[in-house]
Amino acid sequence: MGIADSGTGQGGQPQADLLVVGAGVAGLWLSIKAARAGLSVTLIERDRIGAGASGGFLGALMPHSPERWNEKKDFQFRALVDLETEIAALENETGLPCGYRRVGRILPLHTERARETALDNIAQARTNWSGRFQFNVANTPDRHDWPSILWAPRGIVHETLSARLSPPALLAALAARLGQMPNVLVREGVALTGISHRERRAGLSDGSKLAFGHIALANGVDAFSMIAEAQGAPELDLGGPVKGQAALLDAGAPPDLPVVYHDGVYVLVHENGLVAVGSTSERQFDDPTGTDGQLDDVLKRARKLCPLIGDAPVVGRWAGVRPRAVGRDPMLGPVPGAPHVLAMTGGFKITFGIAHRMADCLLAHVTGSEGPVCPESFSVEAHTAKAKPSAHRPLPRS
Ligand SMILES: Cc1cc2nc3c(=O)[nH]c(=O)nc-3n(C[C@H](O)[C@H](O)[C@H](O)COP(=O)(O)OP(=O)(O)OC[C@H]3O[C@@H](n4cnc5c(N)ncnc54)[C@H](O)[C@@H]3O)c2cc1C
Repeated sequence: MGIADSGTGQGGQPQADLLVVGAGVAGLWLSIKAARAGLSVTLIERDRIGAGASGGFLGALMPHSPERWNEKKDFQFRALVDLETEIAALENETGLPCGYRRVGRILPLHTERARETALDNIAQARTNWSGRFQFNVANTPDRHDWPSILWAPRGIVHETLSARLSPPALLAALAARLGQMPNVLVREGVALTGISHRERRAGLSDGSKLAFGHIALANGVDAFSMIAEAQGAPELDLGGPVKGQAALLDAGAPPDLPVVYHDGVYVLVHENGLVAVGSTSERQFDDPTGTDGQLDDVLKRARKLCPLIGDAPVVGRWAGVRPRAVGRDPMLGPVPGAPHVLAMTGGFKITFGIAHRMADCLLAHVTGSEGPVCPESFSVEAHTAKAKPSAHRPLPRS
C-alpha cells in the first residue's frame, strides 16, 4: 500500500486504517494481526525496530503462580498456551526460526513455607492450567533439568508451562512477515509528535501529517504521557519506566534446560547454547541503557543458582526500560474521550508472552468483531482511576 504523507487522502478517507506507533514486540504483533485482517496499516518507529525494551535477549515466557486465579492470570495463561501455535505459523510464513521452546521452569525452594505453598499450588495448577501442564514439587531436578542447582534445601518446583524465545529472532520474523504484506508500510526513523484525535490526524517528526482510522500507542514507556494527553489530562501519571539489566553468557549449555527462576533472578538457555541472565528492577536510574555493578550482582547470584554457568564468560550486557502502568496490569483499549486512540502498553515484565493476545483484543475493538476477553483492569479507565498527577510534569495553572 502506498501512503502519501501529507494531508488527508482522496475524498477525506483515512490514509491508514490503523496507524501503529512503536515497533517493539507489541506494535509488531498488532501490525501483523491488523494486516492479516485486511486493514491498511502504517507502523512508525522513532528509531529502529527493537530499539526499545524489546531489543534485549531474555525472552522468558513464565506464567503467574496458579493460586488466587483471576482474569489477568487467565489472560496470560491463554496467551502462553496460544503463543506456541502463533509462533509456528509465523515461522512457517517467514521461514525464520524464533528460538521458541516450551522448556518449563525450575524454582528452587529455600524455606519450608515456600515448599508448603508449592505443594498447595499443585492442585491449583491442575485446576487452572487446564490439566495440560504439570506443576510438581520434587526433591531434586531430574536428568533433563539443570544438572546442579546449588542451593535448593527444600526441593524444587518443576512446571512445564513456561517457555522461552529469542527476542531478536522473534522481532526479525515479525518484521519479515510485515515486509511480505502489501497493506503494511513500515517507517523507521519517524516519530509521532502529536495527535489531533477529533480530526484523526497524527503529526510526524518529518513535518508531515497522517490521517488514520485508529491510532494505537504501542510506544512503550513513551505511550503513558501521550495517553494522558489524549484524554485531556496531561498531568496524570499513568505509568513509567522500570529499568532492567541483563547479561548473555557463553556456556554451551543444552537448549532443553528449563528456565531457572529465584527471587527475581532468572537464567535461560537459548537454542544456540548461549545463556541469558536477568535482571535488575530499577525505579531510579540516570542512564536508561547503561549497565553497571547491579548487573554484576545479578550475575553473581545467577552463577550461584546454576553452577553450570559458574565460570562462563559474559559475551553481552544490555539494559532497557520496561513500560509499567500505574495499575501494574497491561494498559489496553480505547482512551476515554478519544475512542479512536488506542493504548497498547504496560506489559512490564511479561509482554513477550502476551503481545499477540493484546493485539487480538485491540483488533476486535477496531473491527467490531469478537475477540478474547480483555480484563477490565487493563482498561485505560481502570488505570486512570489509580493515577495521580505526575511529579515530573507541571500541573496546569488554575
Ligand atoms: C532486562 C529486561 C529483561 C526482560 N525480560 C523479559 C522476559 O524475559 N520476558 C518478557 O516477556 N519481557 C521481558 N522484559 C520486558 C519486555 O522487554 C517489555 O515489556 C517489552 O519489550 C515491551 O514491549 P513494547 O513493544 O511495549 O515496548 P518497546 O519494546 O519499548 O517498544 C516501544 C517502541 O516505541 C518507539 N517509540 C517511542 N516513542 C515513539 C514515538 N513518539 N514515535 C514512534 N516510535 C516511538 C521506541 O523507539 C520503541 O522501539 C524485559 C525487559 C528488560 C529491560
